[in-house]
Amino acid sequence: MSVLVFVENIEGVFKKSAHEVVSYAKAIANTINQPLVALSIGDVKDENLKGLSKYGANRILTANSDKLKSFVNQAYASIIEAAARQENSSIVVLSNSFSGKGLAPRLAAKLVAGLANGVVELPTIEGSILRVKKTAFSGKAFAVTELNSAVKVIALNANAFELRESPVDAEIVAFENQPSPDDFATVVKEIIRATDKVSLPEAEIVVSGGRGLKGPENWGIIEELAEALGAATACSKPVSDAGWRPHAEHVGQTGIAVSPNLYIAIGISGAIQHLAGISSSKTIVVINKDPEAPFFKVADYGIVGDAFEIVPKITAAVRSYKN
Ligand code: FAD
Repeated sequence: MSVLVFVENIEGVFKKSAHEVVSYAKAIANTINQPLVALSIGDVKDENLKGLSKYGANRILTANSDKLKSFVNQAYASIIEAAARQENSSIVVLSNSFSGKGLAPRLAAKLVAGLANGVVELPTIEGSILRVKKTAFSGKAFAVTELNSAVKVIALNANAFELRESPVDAEIVAFENQPSPDDFATVVKEIIRATDKVSLPEAEIVVSGGRGLKGPENWGIIEELAEALGAATACSKPVSDAGWRPHAEHVGQTGIAVSPNLYIAIGISGAIQHLAGISSSKTIVVINKDPEAPFFKVADYGIVGDAFEIVPKITAAVRSYKN
């Protein structure tokens, strides 16, 4: 028996969320006294693979071929399934990322497994039953789900679990089991990078602007603060609907759900549909000129005032702190 963790790479590199899922899976593996097997798919250098042992992976499987360099949902799901069967895994953990959101249900169906996605905490384990806390209703609420199937699939939210080092000696083993040609009904031909900026779902800090910014010509103050902090930029729905910002930046119930360590909301009222996408942020800072703005109710820190005066001052302070 084992716990299997699928570790996503971005262009051959494991990001923080990848190490988070390994830390999380290791904590489960320790609790149920099973080894942790990590599976990587795609072209990743051995030194990066070896880095997974720092977070407790006892065995590291690597599946690679020309066709697997880019993410193909069906093919990746087949490989994870094959690895789970080979390693006799009772629990499979993966990241609730864009790819993970597509992979997890497909994988659960293949393994006839119970699935919990959007998970935010370690499970409580009673015998073969796992109780997991997960986000529900687009992040507006939490639910506790009980998994009692023989195999369980858990998709963990980014930034929901801290990195925990627990170094072990790990072996790297090539996983030769290749998907069938049918698994490549869809293939990625080309990846076109939309931006060189920090990717929003992965970001640890997000600077987000709303209609209070008055127009796209004022977005410079958002971008400058984001650049100073090494943050991604985001916006409310009306802002992207009006074409001030691209739709890819729209956060909320009908947009992207983010869970950064720091979310800075500037000139956003805090409608429930917006909060749905940001509620699992660790720390929320709100800047709004209206002291009654609903966003202040969920803020850890609030600044009442004019964004056009306050934001440039914060940016200048961050820059001088860094220099
Ligand atoms: P507003 O509500 O207009 O708020 C602007 C804020 O800026 C105000 O609080 C104001 O006090 C403040 N402000 C103004 N000037 C300044 C200044 N100079 N300095 C500082 N503060 C200032 N919205 C989303 O964001 N994401 C979603 O996914 C989403 N999905 C939706 C789905 C449905 C089905 C529906 C019905 C709505 C959805 N909405 C969504 C829209 C949502 O209900 C709100 O209308 C929207 O979030 C409001 O955007 P806003 O806060 O930018 O604008």
